Amino acid sequence: MIKVYKEIGQVDILAFGIHPDDVELSASGTILSHIDKGYKVGVCDLTKGELGSRGTPRTRLSEAKDASDIMGIDWRVNLEMADGFSSIDKAHILKIAEVIRLAQPKIILANALDDRHPDHPRGAQLVREAFFFSGLKMITSIQGKPHRADTLYHYIQDKQLSPELCIDITKYVDTKMAAIRAYKTQFYQGENAEDNEGATPISSKAFTDFMIAKMKVFGRAINAEYAEGYILHREIGVDNLMDLR
Ligand SMILES: [Zn+2]
Repeated sequence: MIKVYKEIGQVDILAFGIHPDDVELSASGTILSHIDKGYKVGVCDLTKGELGSRGTPRTRLSEAKDASDIMGIDWRVNLEMADGFSSIDKAHILKIAEVIRLAQPKIILANALDDRHPDHPRGAQLVREAFFFSGLKMITSIQGKPHRADTLYHYIQDKQLSPELCIDITKYVDTKMAAIRAYKTQFYQGENAEDNEGATPISSKAFTDFMIAKMKVFGRAINAEYAEGYILHREIGVDNLMDLR
């Protein structure tokens, strides 16, 4: 486990991504909004994204650190699993369960269950299983006290899935885009930026435009300018219907 940004401590929200930048692309508005409300957030990347076409694992780690600074999260770690083809097995699940036990979060955010990149659903499945097994006290081979988070939400990334929950991030959209641009080797940096590596589908201005359009579509559903969309792991409940819109 590489520490990208400070040591693991207790947090309210723990966000997982199989690649560094998944969390920024899909859930950083939610993270910024909850940090603003006083909650603590940690991020755990499962791989270093070493199969990415541009940049290197080293540049990606330093970009993840810069994005973490922009989001204001408490800590970030990288589990250094192999990018691509990582299997859903005991060793991988327990590595993730250990981070959950050390962080004791109320809420977990995870990759989309269905997406264009096949790693995303695999990351989602690994975290779903770790979400359950981290609570079993008979598992004693990993660090930390047994802990089951209250719930888990799958953020929506590339594929057009219908959200079951939308979170208003209108106030945070500019900071979110700055956190995404911190991945300098990956994403569009503006018209005057030097680009000395080959273009990829995600490095174009069109991809940034698509991201903004998607946040607007999710926002429209809840009468907000911009939102992030989530798929539920289980039913949600509230005490007060007025808390929903
Ligand atoms: Zn990804």
